[in-house]
Amino acid sequence: MAKYIGAHVSSSGGVENAPLNAAAIGANGFALFTKNQRQWVSPPLSERSIQLFKERCIEYGFVPDSILPHDSYLINLGHPTQEGLEKSRAAFLDEMIRCEQLGLNRLNFHPGSHLNQISIDESLARVSESINIALDKTRGVCAVIENTAGQGSNLGHKFEEIAQIIDKVEDKSRVGVCLDTCHMFAAGYDLNSSSLFSPSPFDEFEKIIGFKYLRGMHLNDAKKPLASRVDRHDSLGTGEIGIDIFKMILSDDRFDNIPLILETPNTDIWAEEISLLRGFINN
Ligand SMILES: [Zn+2]
Ligand SMILES: [Zn+2]
Repeated sequence: MAKYIGAHVSSSGGVENAPLNAAAIGANGFALFTKNQRQWVSPPLSERSIQLFKERCIEYGFVPDSILPHDSYLINLGHPTQEGLEKSRAAFLDEMIRCEQLGLNRLNFHPGSHLNQISIDESLARVSESINIALDKTRGVCAVIENTAGQGSNLGHKFEEIAQIIDKVEDKSRVGVCLDTCHMFAAGYDLNSSSLFSPSPFDEFEKIIGFKYLRGMHLNDAKKPLASRVDRHDSLGTGEIGIDIFKMILSDDRFDNIPLILETPNTDIWAEEISLLRGFINN
C-alpha cells in the first residue's frame, strides 16, 4: 500500500518533461496536461515524446496508478448544443487516446456545464453518453470525474450529480471520481477540522458514490469560505480548510494507491508541501 503524492507539474516543452519536473520536487506521483489545455487542437504526441515519457517514468519510479492526467478546460461533455457537444466529444476522445499512448490508466476531467440552456438532468445524461462514446473507442483508460466548486452553471458540485452521471455509464469499471478538497469545501462540504465529526463529508461520499470509484484526489486549501461556490485554491494550511483534513487523508487507507495531487498556487513551496504531507503518513 502506498501514498502517491505529487503536484500538477508543467509539461511545457513536451510531456516527457513532466516526470522530470515531478522528480525535482520529491514527488512520487504527478498530474499533467498532455496537450495545451487552452486550445482545441494540438499536434499528436510524437513517438519520441511517448518513448521518453515512458522511460523517464520507469527511471524515476512513477507507476501508472500515481499519474493523473487532466483534460483541457474547453471541453464540455454536457454541452447544450449539438455542435458544442460534438466538438467536446472529439477533443475528449483525443485526450483519452493520448493517455492510452502514454501507457496511463486514467483521465481527470470536469463534468461540464448546462449553460442555462438545458436542464441539469439533461446535461448530466449527455455527460454519461459522452463517457460511453469515449470508453467505447479506447481501451484501459478510466474516465475520472472531478467534483466542482459549483460556479455558474457547472455540473458536479454535489455527490448526487456525480452519482447520476456514473449511473448511466455502461462500463462501471472504467469510470471514477477525483475529489478536489477545495471544490468540496466551496460546494458546502465542511472539511474544516472544527466540524470533522462523524458522519464526515467522506462518509457521505461513501454512501452516495462509494470509495471504490475514487481514482484520485486534488489536495488544495480554499481561499473562500464554506459553500462560497467560488473556486480559489490556497496553499495547504493557509486557507479556510486548515491542515487537519490533510493529516487525516494521509493516515487513512481509503486514500491509498491513488494520485494525491497538489494544485496549490505557490509552486515554489510544492517540495515543502509534499514533504509535509509525507510526514503525515501513519501518524
Ligand atoms: Zn480540475
Ligand atoms: Zn482540481
